Amino acid sequence: MKWVVATHNRDKLKEIQDIFADFGVQLVDLDAFPHIDPVEESGTSLRDNALLKARAVHAETGLPTVADDTGLEVDALDGAPGIYSARFAGTGASYRDNVEKLLASLQNVHRDRRTARFRTCAVYVDGAREAAAEGVIEGSITQDPRGENGFGYDPVFIVEGTEQTFGQMTAEQKKQISHRAKAFQALHHQLARSLSNNVIKETPA
Ligand code: IMP
Repeated sequence: MKWVVATHNRDKLKEIQDIFADFGVQLVDLDAFPHIDPVEESGTSLRDNALLKARAVHAETGLPTVADDTGLEVDALDGAPGIYSARFAGTGASYRDNVEKLLASLQNVHRDRRTARFRTCAVYVDGAREAAAEGVIEGSITQDPRGENGFGYDPVFIVEGTEQTFGQMTAEQKKQISHRAKAFQALHHQLARSLSNNVIKETPA
């Protein structure tokens, strides 16, 4: 049995393959389907956007599909950039542009008020059934980028309970605690339970 992971990101694929290793399914990414165009993320929530991606890829491939969507929620910005995390500084913005805009937006915000979290919604779609699960990691935003690892907002996100940003952690350390890992572990848990009953229930995120 083959499942599609709706991403071109090899690291994401590997991480999800590890989590679902005991399912005995072959997980492939979108590089196996070069004819599939990127899906417009026009939803109003992470769950909507993840489902849009998964449903579109399932419609094209006929295969069970998993997808995810992630946002950084900054309390002092009323939850922004949230679902707009990839395009915070505008369409086509680079990671650096987005980080610069974030730090500029928080320029006058005191250390104690820079709390934030990464939230991921992970979904499964197979045509008959859908499931969704969330993962969250709490933290705060630095004054300046720290560390060379990771991507996106990693160098400015200090993980709660540590002194380190994700950018200062190894990929292995991040994988143990990340929002994405938690979301896919929760999705795995739901699907494992439902598959053992031979039914996957539709579950609100
Ligand atoms: P996506 O839903 O995984 O495409 O993530 C949307 C945007 O959120 C990305 O373009 C990144 O800017 C940011 N992002 C997602 N996951 C992470 C992460 O693990 N660390 C830092 N930034 C992330």
